[in-house]
Amino acid sequence: MKVMKFGGTCMSNNEMMTKVEDVIAREKEEKVILVSAVAGVTDNISGFIESFHSDEEIENYVKELKKLHLKLLPPDEDLTKEATTALDQRFNKLETLLYGVSYTEEITPRTRDLIISMGERLSSIVLATRLRARGLNSSFFNSDELGIITDGVHGNATADLKECERSVGPKIFALSKAGVIPVVTGFFGISPGGHVTTFGRGGTDYSASVLGFACSASVIEIWKDVDGFMTADPKMATDAKQVDKLSYEEAAELAYFGAKVLHPRTVFPAMEKDIPIAVRNVLKPDSAGSMIFKNSTKRKNILKSVSYLRNIATIKVFGTGAGYKTGFLRDISEAMSEADINIYSATTSQTCVAMLIEKSDVKKAQDILEKMLGGYYERLEVTENIALICTVGSGLASTRGIAARVFKVVAANDVNVDLISAGASTVAYHFTIDKKDLQKTIRAIHDEFFPKKS
Ligand code: ADP
Ligand code: ASP
Ligand code: MG
Repeated sequence: MKVMKFGGTCMSNNEMMTKVEDVIAREKEEKVILVSAVAGVTDNISGFIESFHSDEEIENYVKELKKLHLKLLPPDEDLTKEATTALDQRFNKLETLLYGVSYTEEITPRTRDLIISMGERLSSIVLATRLRARGLNSSFFNSDELGIITDGVHGNATADLKECERSVGPKIFALSKAGVIPVVTGFFGISPGGHVTTFGRGGTDYSASVLGFACSASVIEIWKDVDGFMTADPKMATDAKQVDKLSYEEAAELAYFGAKVLHPRTVFPAMEKDIPIAVRNVLKPDSAGSMIFKNSTKRKNILKSVSYLRNIATIKVFGTGAGYKTGFLRDISEAMSEADINIYSATTSQTCVAMLIEKSDVKKAQDILEKMLGGYYERLEVTENIALICTVGSGLASTRGIAARVFKVVAANDVNVDLISAGASTVAYHFTIDKKDLQKTIRAIHDEFFPKKS
């Protein structure tokens, strides 16, 4: 059984969706399809619920969304009629939810998750209908109804893998045995209490890995509009090259530290069952793309790829003897965790604990630290306009001269490095720089390790 995931980039227009159908139609192995919302739709719905609207605005908004999806249905009258009925049910529900939010002028994390899950509920109908028009026996399924069970954390849920294996696996096998190609909504599951919970933005990659675990898949294919995992974000380095093989650890570090090509937690479920992940391009279906698996080969010059995070901040807690005070680090991390703040990375010295957090969490972090720690520390220092760069490659930590090459080229470009973290991972270093230097730093590292002619 194969899991095949198609992201929003593949679901952007008729032409791309035909490529998706081609890829599915030529696959002979049993398969389950995971699908993202049509390109831009989740962004669009999330943006719309940022403010409250009049009835007329909501009506027009839903009308536009409907137009966008109807345009993607195949030119088959019967199938279109059936699909339109299913789509209309979703649009009615969405419209009702939007009225509710605007009337009450209140949106809870639970309602937000339910509303933004609509993108996938719509796109799965479109793709299954198109596959049927191609003569394939396909049906759409909502992942909450199917039993993708989560821990219930709204906006950043984690799947209960064992539960998913028990509840979803047998259903997918039964469908497949009956000759059905299931098209399943990505991005969300259902909490033990019965509420829709999303996996965080870009979460369909993670859904694919969860489904791969549930079905003990032979491979999890993540289909994109890029060649695979590249040596850098192709938007930052247009000459980025495809990386053929990565280890689970390498891919996990890159995804966690910003490589948008994979949701940060995609690797874990696959790694648990040793299932390879293939990142492939719908525009080049004959290319094997990038393979992520247990052991990967080392590149001659060690580095595999460089990633970045743009919207982060450093928060430094100063206190003499900080590194020596028992419980200091524990108290800080407990306070941050209670406030639901993710610490990307932390380093300590005798006088300071420095943490990297999401920029949008700065205010919350300052408040909670001030309240929790009282006179425990001397001062807090926040730096907001920073970016994080992560360089990844197996053997990086044990190979002499790699760090020196990275920092030499960064310094040669007049870029100052603030925090450095090395040693925690054997495959990655990360460090922070001024945000304005991001592009030139990526460029410089990429030119050093992946020169244009190589
Ligand atoms: P999808 O909608 O298919 O999930 P995304 O837009 O989430 O696709 O991810 C693909 C994008 O990830 C690419 O367009 C690219 O700009 C970005 N990206 C960032 N880092 C990398 C990388 N190392 N390799 C490939 N793509 C990357
Ligand atoms: N549609 C969701 C998002 O845009 C999930 C995904 O595309 O993976 O974040
Ligand atoms: Mg994505």
